[in-house]
Amino acid sequence: MTLLIHSPRPMSRSPLKTRSRPIKTAKNQKRWFGLGLMAAVMVFSLFLQGTQAEWFSSDLKVWVLDVGQGDAIFIQTPEGEQILVDSGNPGTVLAKLGQVMPPWDRTIDKVIVTHPHADHEGGLPEILRRYQVTTIYETGVLGYDDMQYQVTELAAEQGTEIILSSNGVLPSSSPRWGRVGLHPPKSGEGGESAQLELRIIAPDSNLHNKKIDNLNSASIVLLLTYGDTSILLTGDATNEEESDFLSDLSEPIDILKVAHHGSVTSTSQKFLEIAAPRFAIFSVGADNDYGHPHPVTLERLYSRDIEIFRTDLDGDVLITSDGGEPVVESRPLPF
Ligand SMILES: [Zn+2]
Repeated sequence: MTLLIHSPRPMSRSPLKTRSRPIKTAKNQKRWFGLGLMAAVMVFSLFLQGTQAEWFSSDLKVWVLDVGQGDAIFIQTPEGEQILVDSGNPGTVLAKLGQVMPPWDRTIDKVIVTHPHADHEGGLPEILRRYQVTTIYETGVLGYDDMQYQVTELAAEQGTEIILSSNGVLPSSSPRWGRVGLHPPKSGEGGESAQLELRIIAPDSNLHNKKIDNLNSASIVLLLTYGDTSILLTGDATNEEESDFLSDLSEPIDILKVAHHGSVTSTSQKFLEIAAPRFAIFSVGADNDYGHPHPVTLERLYSRDIEIFRTDLDGDVLITSDGGEPVVESRPLPF
C-alpha cells in the first residue's frame, strides 16, 4: 500500500503540467514589457515633440525663469549660444536649467552677473559645479566675500574665464549647431539673417574692487536686440542708474525686465517715457518680504497700457522672436 501511495505520477503528464504555467507567465511578462516599452517610447516622443522644438529652435528664446524672489534669465540665441543672466538664490536655478536645456548638454557659454547680491549670484556656485561655463561677465565690484570667493575658486578650477565688464558689445561665441545638432537660423525674405547684439549699456565706469553703498545702482544693464526685437534687462538698477543709460536707448524697446523686482525706487516716469516698452516682466517671489512689486510701479505701467507678466503669478515667462515682432507668453516648463 505504501508503495502505491508514493508511486510517481505518470511522466507523460507531469512535465507539461508543471512547466505550462511558467511558460505562460514568461510570455505574459514579455508582452507586458513590450507594451510598457512602447508606451514609454510614445510618452517620451510626445515629451520630445514639446521640448525639442525649444531646444532646437532657430528663434531667439529668452526665458525669465520663476526662481522666486530673484533673477535668472536664460537666453538661447538663434546660433544656439546659451547665456544666463543672473542665477537666482541658492537652490533655485538648477532644476529650471535642467528643463530649458537638453539633458545631455552640460555647457553654458556665458553667465552674466548683474551685481553680487545673493538673489542674483547665489546660484552660480552650484551651476559651476554642474556645468562647464566658458565665460563669466561681472563688474568686479566688491560684494559678499564668501559668495564671490566661491565663484572665483570654482571658476579657476574649471578654467572659466572671468571678464570684468562695463559698457560694450559682448562677443558672440562660435555657432553651436555642429556641437549639439542645431540647425542654422532661417534667412529672412531678403536672404539676410536678423542680426543679434547683446550690449552692456551700464555701468559706465570700471568698478573693479570698488566698494559701493548700494550695489543695486551698480547693476549690469543689458540691451538685447535681434532684428526688430529689443529686450532690456535691468538687473536691480535704481532711478539714478536708469538716468545714466537713458541716452543709450535710441528708440522704444519692446520688452522690459522690470528693475529690482518692481521696487518703487526704480522704473521712474521719465525712464518709462523714453524706454516706452510694450511688455513688462517682473521677476518676483510670491508673498515676498519686500512688498515687491510696489503698487506705484505697477500703476505706472498700467497707466501706459503696458502688458504685464509676473513670475509670481504667471510662472516661467518665455519671449520668442524670429527677428520680427516678439511673442511673450507664460509657458509652464515640461516637468
Ligand atoms: Zn534683486
